[in-house]
Order: sequence, then structure tokens, then C-alpha cells
Amino acid sequence: MSNNVLLQVNDLKVHFPIYNKALFAKRTGEVKAVDGVTFTLHEGETLGLVGESGCGKTTTGKALLNLYPRYTTGEVIYEGKNILKMPDPELRPIRRNMQMIFQDPYSSLDPRMTVQQIVEEPLIIHHLASSKQELRERALELLDVVGFSSKMADRYPSEFSGGQRQRIGIARALALNPKLLICDEPVSALDVSVQSQILNLLGDLRSKYNISMIFIAHGLNVVRHVSDRIGVMYLGHLVEVAEKKTLYEEPLHPYTKALLSAIPVPDPTVELHRIPLEGDVPSPVNPPSGCPFHTRCQYAGQCGGRCSAEFPKMKEIKVGHFVMCHLFDYNSK
Ligand code: SF4
Repeated sequence: MSNNVLLQVNDLKVHFPIYNKALFAKRTGEVKAVDGVTFTLHEGETLGLVGESGCGKTTTGKALLNLYPRYTTGEVIYEGKNILKMPDPELRPIRRNMQMIFQDPYSSLDPRMTVQQIVEEPLIIHHLASSKQELRERALELLDVVGFSSKMADRYPSEFSGGQRQRIGIARALALNPKLLICDEPVSALDVSVQSQILNLLGDLRSKYNISMIFIAHGLNVVRHVSDRIGVMYLGHLVEVAEKKTLYEEPLHPYTKALLSAIPVPDPTVELHRIPLEGDVPSPVNPPSGCPFHTRCQYAGQCGGRCSAEFPKMKEIKVGHFVMCHLFDYNSK
């Protein structure tokens, strides 16, 4: 991993409007799916993004590719330019450098295309091969990288298992030599036995091609194997960001502590200290006042009423360890 910044994300917000058809499509509110996310991604680095369903992690990943231009504000600085402000023709070559791997390998591949055609498609769209021969050679090379032999190239996605289909999706994403891969829960639809194979493959590719990754996952146990740093999201906010080792060994935010305590331990003799998360995640249409986590936080009474009244700012507690919680107001740098 280098010190060069690949991506600088500043105050990213994605607010989807809600319209009421009974009131002549009047705008009646908004879903604050992502609400002020700031982070940096270095070249060759993998940042894990975790949180419960609906916390905004997938929307964040898609907003980085400017897939919601009408609803996104803030900055996504790539090579010195804010891609959220770029016109489409200028953005197109940059999108080549940023590819996404989807959660569901079953629906992300066209069932009418052979594996070879699926991998060739982006090469054709971006005119990256001068002949059919070159196209085939490049596709077979990419399939070889993800562990497919040339004999499998003429078969269809339906003939493969979930893990193999995810490999095809990875080969397709690699076709354009991306600098950034956004992996949206790439193993959550797979059997546990196959998950580690895909995680190992992604780890190998990262080292081989020096690709930066945003790795989105539901639980902290999955991102542990692939991430350099981890960001924990709650209700559209990043509530803690730290180096992997620091986050697992010295978590600070009460939500991170609760998520960590929920990771299953294979040894039945180990005594678990689970931190219960009471209630559901509040609606992003009507988020709580003050700290977004205060309705479920067991420390909410310890900040003299501030938790329910005042939004906590993100603070750097130690070098590279950021946390959004009033409990640490007096310890920050
Ligand atoms: Fe809990 Fe208050 Fe910290 Fe929010 S600010 S996480 S409610 S202690």
C-alpha cells in the first residue's frame, strides 16, 4: 500500500426524495441514505465498510461511481477532480478505472451470454482489442487469473456454482484494469465454504495488480480478512474508522463494540460478553436528533443529555483512529 491518495471523499450525502402521489406528487420528505461521509482511500489499500442493513454502505459504494447524480452532494476527489461535478463524457474514462463487483452473482450475469462473451463485453465497449483473436486471448487470460480453464469459456453462467459465477464477475471487473474495485457484499450470497476462496482470490488480485478496494460487508468477521482499515457505518454516518488491528483490539464507539461482541466464536469454552443492541435501526426518513445511535446506546445517559440533543463530530482520538461519539470529546487530539 502506498501513501498516495487515490480517492478523497468529503461530506458525501445521498438524500432520496419521497413524493406523495395522493398530494399531486408533492415532495413530503427524504430518505437520508448517506448523510455526511468523509474518508480517504490510498493506492493499493482496502477499506472495509460494515454495518447493518440500511446503514448506507451500498449506497455509499454506488455514489462513489456517481450512480445517483441527482441526489448526491459532497465531493469524491479522484486524481484531483471532483467526479460528482463532471459531465458524462469526462466521467466515462474515469469509470473504467472504478469497477463494481455485485452481491448477487446469480443476477449480475447475463444468462444468454457465454462466460467468454461476458468477459469480452467491457473490452468491446471500450475498444480495447483490435481483433477477435486478441479479444479471445485477453478474455481467456482474465478467466485464467480467476481459476477458469479455456474449456469453461464457452459455457453459460447457469452451468456454474455461486462461487464460480462470482469469479466470472471478478474477471469481468478486471477486464478494464481498474484502479479501484468496489466489492458490494461479494460473498454474502455464497456458502461459507466458498466465501474464503473468493476472499483469498480478491486478496491475491489486490497484491498482484495493486488495486485499491472498498469492501462492503454486513459483519466485521468478513472484512477482517481483506481490509487494511475499516469504517463502521450507522444510519448513513461513518461512526468509527481505524486500522484493522486497532479496530478489533481497541474499538471505541459503542456500536462497533456491539458488532464485535456479536461475532461467533468457534470455541464453546470461550466465555462471550455480548453487548445487546436493543430495538431496530431507526428510519433514515426520520433519524433521531443528536447522536443517531442514542436510541440504542447503553452509554447514552453518560453525556449529560448531549447524546439526544447534539450531533457528535468525528474526532481523531489517536493517529488514524477516528470516532464519532461525545464520550471522547475530551480525549481527542
Ligand atoms: Fe452513545 Fe452518546 Fe456516544 Fe452516541 S454520542 S454513541 S449515544 S455515548
